[in-house]
Amino acid sequence: MRQQGVPMLIVMKAHATEEQVRSVCQKIESLGFRAHSIPGTQRTAIGITGNETELDPGTFDEMLGVQEVIRVSKPYKLVSRDVKEEDTVIRFRETDASFGGEEVAIIAGPCAIESREQALTTAGHVARAGAKFFRGGAYKPRTSPYSFQGLAEDGLKILAEVRDRFGLLIVTEAIDNESLGLVEKYADVIQIGARNMQNFSLLKRAGKARKPVLLKRGMSATVEEFLMAAEYIMSEGNYNVILCERGVRTFADHTRNTLDLSVVPAVQRLSHLPIIVDPSHGTGKRNKVTPLSRAAVAVGADGLIIEVHPDPDRALSDGKQSLFPEQFEALMAEVREIAKVLKRTVADPVANPGARRPSTVPATAGSAAVR
Ligand code: PEP
Ligand code: MN
Repeated sequence: MRQQGVPMLIVMKAHATEEQVRSVCQKIESLGFRAHSIPGTQRTAIGITGNETELDPGTFDEMLGVQEVIRVSKPYKLVSRDVKEEDTVIRFRETDASFGGEEVAIIAGPCAIESREQALTTAGHVARAGAKFFRGGAYKPRTSPYSFQGLAEDGLKILAEVRDRFGLLIVTEAIDNESLGLVEKYADVIQIGARNMQNFSLLKRAGKARKPVLLKRGMSATVEEFLMAAEYIMSEGNYNVILCERGVRTFADHTRNTLDLSVVPAVQRLSHLPIIVDPSHGTGKRNKVTPLSRAAVAVGADGLIIEVHPDPDRALSDGKQSLFPEQFEALMAEVREIAKVLKRTVADPVANPGARRPSTVPATAGSAAVR
């Protein structure tokens, strides 16, 4: 198998033409490597992957439009700010929803899709409170094989109906290559769970998908391992990756996991990718979800993913950490105020979310664009 070699990056001049960028990419590909052209507001950078050994910078130095050829000191490159200085903003065609922009993205919904009624009821609540994204697993990675495993494709169909009725964008988990194909077809964002953060074949498959990927941090992953997992996805050509902190394993037993909020500024220093926070799995306790959501927005997270259930005590999974709809509404009001301090926004409540319904949101591939 081919080994990844010394990371290299070609930085183009600010006024390099598209033609010059194309020539450099063609040169890279002609040498048997892969070129990743990442446009920025100031300049374009071209990452090279697939090189087993160090490439001779002289090969590119003299090409028109090339500013410099640099060796990247970190093991990751496409995720790094070396490649792209400014924040990546992931937008969804024909909607005003985004990750990484001024608005703090809010994803809310049940842990698992249990029934059509449960999903539609929850969706109505969270959409009215201002969420633009709906979560809910159709495939559940459960610790016990005897626990509820999800409704599979029937669950995905319910999610598609949620999108149609309420104009919510759908975020749902793929647990293997087979489910990824189906999730890609029905959802707007493909979630890769904490337990799969280092499932490299799944990451590569997600890298070939044409929908953005929400990548959760593994329970014991370092920042470098987390970013390398994102690099796997990007190296296959999918640059729309959203990172998610969801708590790590520690000795503490007052919460299900320890929510590591300091990873947010740590990642933001190193990477241009958006990073959101999951205070539901990060605490495992309903009474801690709102306080940690406030803290996550205050620390600078680009979004929140929150579990909400109309009847949490009867939920088939994660009821103890699921908010009642009224609690979610109150949470939204609080984070809206906190966001202002950081010159950011949280979407306002919507009286009639059915009215914004996007037959306009494409159910098919290619809905996202990186800025
Ligand atoms: C989930 O979002 O329901 C989930 C299973 O999360 P995680 O992968 O973070 O445990
Ligand atoms: Mn859950």
